[in-house]
Amino acid sequence: MLLIGSHVGFNKNTQILGSLEEALSYGANTFMFYTGAPQNTIRSQIDEKLTEKARQKMKEIGMDEKKIIVHAPYIVNLCNEEKFDFSVNFLVAELERINELGIKYMVLHPGSHVGIGIEKGIENISKGLNLIFSKVKNNNVTILLETMAGKGTEVGSKLEEIKEILDKVEEKEHMGVCLDTCHLNDAGYDLEDFDEFLNTFDKIIGLEKIGCIHINDSKNEQNSHKDRHENIGFGTIGFDKLIKIIYNEKLENIPKILETPYVDREYAPYKYEIEMIKNKIFDKDLIQKIRAKDI
Ligand code: FE
Ligand code: FE
Ligand code: ZN
Repeated sequence: MLLIGSHVGFNKNTQILGSLEEALSYGANTFMFYTGAPQNTIRSQIDEKLTEKARQKMKEIGMDEKKIIVHAPYIVNLCNEEKFDFSVNFLVAELERINELGIKYMVLHPGSHVGIGIEKGIENISKGLNLIFSKVKNNNVTILLETMAGKGTEVGSKLEEIKEILDKVEEKEHMGVCLDTCHLNDAGYDLEDFDEFLNTFDKIIGLEKIGCIHINDSKNEQNSHKDRHENIGFGTIGFDKLIKIIYNEKLENIPKILETPYVDREYAPYKYEIEMIKNKIFDKDLIQKIRAKDI
């Protein structure tokens, strides 16, 4: 079954119930959210009643709660010593919250080494992850390391780097990978023949490790190391390649999450992008229509 959704909001008054309702308004059957703002670490307590209501609703409509994703905020960075303690402490508390929500996956950016070199960065993040797992009791959450575009000093733009981190983390059963199509393109991977990419991934890491795929078009050329997401079909990857990835039979049952930009920073495109994906037909006027509210 196609599992398609987008990232959605999470506010302290409605929490996961609000996130679920937003996802449903887009015609999604899964979703991803940050437990607060993505750019800060201010987090509110999880409200048990709202969580229970959301789980009840998911059960009623047959949504698989095991496929819902939380994304860690981007300001945590386990690669560099300067933010190491802060990041470990935040992620321990975050994993406790996610366990409380009953969610199974958390996407994490490996981080940026900020000048100390990729090898040292990989050492630090592995050490950080081991420390985090040792501190969280009864953990059921799998951390998915996201493949990155290689902007600045980002670690994890090569599959070999992700593999090295996975090798160094002791709790292998709680580690996996999140692919991001924009990041893969910008990191230099050719998405033309995705089966070939998956063969490479399988040789280096193992297909069973993929827990989530971020579906984004890219504003930039392959190998640009930029990381600027574009709406589906409006970027350099293009609609056909993205559709082939979304419907690749080896990736069935893996949640596909859109993180494409709002139109004019105002209108969420997800309902319409999900519709295009379900119909497999590209609408070249989509952005204009959303802008003109002519949809
Ligand atoms: Fe991400
Ligand atoms: Fe992403
Ligand atoms: Zn990105």
